[in-house]
Amino acid sequence: MMTISNTGSDETSLISLSLDMLSKKWDIDPIVRELHLGKRVDLQDYQIKINQVTFHIPYITDPSLFLLWDCLWPDCHNCCNRQGRLPLTVDDIAKISQGLGYKNKSDFITNETYVASWDTNSATNSDNSNLITTLTMINLKRKSDENEADNGNPLSCRFLDNHGSCDLHPDKPGVCWLYPFFSWSQYENNRMSVHASFQLTGDCPGFYISKNIDDKMMAILNDYSIKIYDYTMNVNTTVREGFGRIDFN
Ligand code: SF4
Ligand code: SF4
Repeated sequence: MMTISNTGSDETSLISLSLDMLSKKWDIDPIVRELHLGKRVDLQDYQIKINQVTFHIPYITDPSLFLLWDCLWPDCHNCCNRQGRLPLTVDDIAKISQGLGYKNKSDFITNETYVASWDTNSATNSDNSNLITTLTMINLKRKSDENEADNGNPLSCRFLDNHGSCDLHPDKPGVCWLYPFFSWSQYENNRMSVHASFQLTGDCPGFYISKNIDDKMMAILNDYSIKIYDYTMNVNTTVREGFGRIDFN
């Protein structure tokens, strides 16, 4: 059975509220809604390895359906309107500080970022039990006076312009390129392997259900596998270089 990480009651209420907001503009399939809320008991973890990334795709058995995704931009930019946090890798820090006109990274870090920690229980141990990790990363401020108290709260990002485009694009944070996937790395057979699955936070209307993993989804997985692998390896570099920390609980 697949483990959906969004199952705490507080978190479920927040997802439910997010889905209600989303439903004002978009038709959300009832099954997609149930999947976001962790309400399906007939859920399985369908794993598909593309390039160097193992994707975990939610699959329900009765009826037999996959949860798939496609982006609805430019009609939608909800992920930028309801951004939870923007953790930065070392590459992000170098690119964004330069793009914002900073001559040195320390001024950029002082003025434009704050440090925040959060738990994620998405990864699994080799025995398939849940592994809770705490990530501590430098985060890009989504509003100019953002601080640690805002960590995890949905905010409209200051880099979103009036046309739904990102002022930092294409040098936006790696985590923005990844959305709506999240990724993690783990050791398997003495080698680092990279995994990814969907963030089911109720903020993206692009999810749909399908009997098959269609060609459109395969093309997306192929494209994202490169971004996800590079990003996840870059997070590991960020941790190694002391710009972030991962603790296993
Ligand atoms: S919320 Fe989803 S559909 Fe909308 S722009 Fe973001 S990824 Fe695309
Ligand atoms: S940095 Fe750009 S892509 Fe990322 S949340 Fe902000 S506006 Fe959206």
